[in-house]
Amino acid sequence: MFKFILFIILFLLAKPYITSAISTDMIELLKKETQKIMYILNIEKRQNISRDGELRVVACDKLTGYNANFKIQSGSKGILNQDNPDSMFYLDPYILTSNDLKSILTNESKDSKFEVLKAYSVIVHELTHYYQKGEFAYIHGNKYIKYNESNDKEYVSQLSELDAHAVQSYFFVKNINPKGLEKILSHSSVQVIKERLINEYRLYNSQTKLYE
Ligand SMILES: [Zn+2]
Repeated sequence: MFKFILFIILFLLAKPYITSAISTDMIELLKKETQKIMYILNIEKRQNISRDGELRVVACDKLTGYNANFKIQSGSKGILNQDNPDSMFYLDPYILTSNDLKSILTNESKDSKFEVLKAYSVIVHELTHYYQKGEFAYIHGNKYIKYNESNDKEYVSQLSELDAHAVQSYFFVKNINPKGLEKILSHSSVQVIKERLINEYRLYNSQTKLYE
């Protein structure tokens, strides 16, 4: 009996480390940073966040590399007040990451500053999806344009992705090239700022610019 109780206690103690792909402190920091950047870039936040279930960050075998996804565990049923962007909230939201990302985020491997920042920026991207306000069809439904490997510009340019990519890029550029960020922010149009941030991020990641 004692052994059994000990096993249960050890299991409960170990559980957060098994299931979470990122420490609580780090996710809290990234949440604050994401909301700050959304505010600066004029991106609207859902108002009903206090009614959400706890947001979890979990690794899975299906994803590889720097890939992550924002999801609702119980699917469409877990999205409440779907017809009203002002009151929509999520029952069981979570961010799914690859195991590669988890190992960078939990510092299991010795990674460069570039890799760590890139990993954090991917979480910031998914956090933007979590916070962003929008019509159901455009953020979860049939008006959301899925990525198909040949529609880079169309995919990134839809509002929900443009905003998530812009916040991710802002976070990354701020940490890797603060002077570069200042220069980009000096433009008067927030749309141009978002596009330039995304271009800059892509150049750092050996991709071509998407916008002129
Ligand atoms: Zn996205």
